[in-house]
Amino acid sequence: MKICFATNNIKKIEEVKAALGSDFEIVSLQDIGCYEELPETGNTLDHNAFQKARYVKSNYGVDCFADDTGLEVDALDGAPGVYSGRFAGEPRSDERNIELLLNKMKGKSDRKAKFRTVIALILDGKEYAFEGSAEGKILAEKVGSGGFGYDPLFKPSGYDRTFAELSIAEKNEISHRGKAVKALISFLNNRKF
Ligand code: IMP
Repeated sequence: MKICFATNNIKKIEEVKAALGSDFEIVSLQDIGCYEELPETGNTLDHNAFQKARYVKSNYGVDCFADDTGLEVDALDGAPGVYSGRFAGEPRSDERNIELLLNKMKGKSDRKAKFRTVIALILDGKEYAFEGSAEGKILAEKVGSGGFGYDPLFKPSGYDRTFAELSIAEKNEISHRGKAVKALISFLNNRKF
């Protein structure tokens, strides 16, 4: 089955392709002639995920799924949450977001945090949502060179390595996006045609 993943994030595409396996072929935004930034102006992950998917469906006419992810840090009352991408302002920068998070976490003893992903799917005129989350801790410095975003600061519960030190397959096994994609796969596989 072919399906469009509405994202411009190459790292997300790599992760989701690895999770979906060979039964599914990911069509990229470039493949459908979409070279623009997708809108995400809401204040919930759900809103933003559906906003991106509906934008692609209505402007390019293809069924697709889009994800939106936030990092919720307990000691910051759930921030940056839905604003994780723009935490340090525009233009978005993983480096500046990480610096800001490290500064805000200086001296905090409660390091608990959670990644949450919502995947919005538009298929055959209907809309569906899938969610996944991953709990862990925010480190006091970056560790690891893989992954993207806040990965070098996030040590998932039960692991002694950060997301940035895990392989894509290992991260998919336990990550917010990996779990949401598993729910998506299960839905697609059980769908009656
Ligand atoms: P968005 O879902 O692309 O809007 O991502 C929001 C923010 O979370 C961006 O700063 C991303 O870099 C970051 N982010 C999204 N997914 C992950 C992840 O799996 N690990 C680390 N950071 C992520």
